[in-house]
Amino acid sequence: MIKEFENVVIGAGIAGCCVSYFLSKKNKSVLLIDKNSDLAMGASGAAGAFLSPLLGKPNSFKNIVTNALGFSINFYKTFGDDVLNSCGVCRIPKDSEDRDKFQTYKTFMDFEYEKLEDGFFFKIGSVINPKTITSLLTKDVEKQFNYKVTNIEKLEDGYWLINDEIKTKNLILTTGINTKLIDEKYFTIRPVWGQKMDVETSTTTNMNYHKQCSVSTVLDNKNGKNIISIGATHHRFENKKIEDIDNTEEFYTKDIIEEDAKHLLNLANDIIKIEDANILDIKVGARACSTDYLPIVGKLVDSKKSIKEHPHLINGSFVNDDKLSFYDNLYVLNGVGGRGFVLSSYLANMLVDNIVDDEPILNEVLPNRLFKRWVKKYKLNNC
Ligand SMILES: Cc1cc2nc3c(=O)[nH]c(=O)nc-3n(C[C@H](O)[C@H](O)[C@H](O)COP(=O)(O)OP(=O)(O)OC[C@H]3O[C@@H](n4cnc5c(N)ncnc54)[C@H](O)[C@@H]3O)c2cc1C
Repeated sequence: MIKEFENVVIGAGIAGCCVSYFLSKKNKSVLLIDKNSDLAMGASGAAGAFLSPLLGKPNSFKNIVTNALGFSINFYKTFGDDVLNSCGVCRIPKDSEDRDKFQTYKTFMDFEYEKLEDGFFFKIGSVINPKTITSLLTKDVEKQFNYKVTNIEKLEDGYWLINDEIKTKNLILTTGINTKLIDEKYFTIRPVWGQKMDVETSTTTNMNYHKQCSVSTVLDNKNGKNIISIGATHHRFENKKIEDIDNTEEFYTKDIIEEDAKHLLNLANDIIKIEDANILDIKVGARACSTDYLPIVGKLVDSKKSIKEHPHLINGSFVNDDKLSFYDNLYVLNGVGGRGFVLSSYLANMLVDNIVDDEPILNEVLPNRLFKRWVKKYKLNNC
């Protein structure tokens, strides 16, 4: 028998958990699906999950991160006093050039800070446990694990059919690096792989640090030893297709993991001496980055229909956004890159307000921009 829902969210990382949370808060029925056996098994499980301000001159991305950081800190705190570790972060310049840049950033600081050693200390800097927060977010949400979605289809009654088994009015894709469910060439994600590790040490840290890597405050204490988290590395395997992502170990080899672990320890030691370091756990994942690094939130443009209705689009003519054709009741929240724990709650709240109450979504994050850039090159790509 086909099961029916008002909303189905595919992907149980931080993005999907936040979307599910806000939908259920509005008393909407929701099913959260993931191909893995638990929450946060993709990028979200590999994250250091640091929340830290973005420094530099104002631009679209920085404005979004600043608003999202303020939002997410307050939001996470509503789940209890000990959910968010609000220890502050010391941002340290990586070299003399960076030190000069830091001075110019002072004019553009969005959060309270004070000078600390070679860098700046931000009280707002925090760290969160991915497993804890995703569990809390989805406490009241129906979930289906070990369920890989291979096919989605629009039915004549306007509903979406998933794997010929589940029907839903609204379908929300929060699938991270996997964008295969939708055949739209402009909807592309660049995976940036990386790892973070949990380390046992006799060193005591009482804040987060960020220089060329991040070192956390003490997250736990076991057998008289402190547990800290160190992350993260960055790798692009440009020649790897999405099909390969389930076989991570074929390209993210043991050698790379070991090299990265050594590298991360060196970078961490450059911040604070990590005494008697013993690596307890290493996690690998892929950040889903958009081609312009801005998140992708909202309805996807149906490129075939839009081009059919406005053929002059491919000659570079301007067409207003409201004249484009969109996939009805199909939404995405993706492209949160290396800041998923900062951006997701802010953007999920915005998306759910749009789905349920027709509130607008920030222009800069709409998928429309990606379609428009792609369609301009359409002739070039199709000749
Ligand atoms: C090493 C590392 C360190 C990081 N450090 C930080 C940090 O300090 N701070 C920060 O804010 N961010 C950090 N990030 C980034 C952050 O982890 C990501 O931005 C965030 O986790 C993305 O969340 P997501 O829900 O979009 O994707 P994911 O967590 O990858 O979730 C996508 C989910 O979709 C599921 N899925 C995909 N396709 C299907 C399908 N067809 N059927 C069923 N399920 C499917 C996958 O199984 C997966 O669980 C880090 C990332 C990495 C890799």
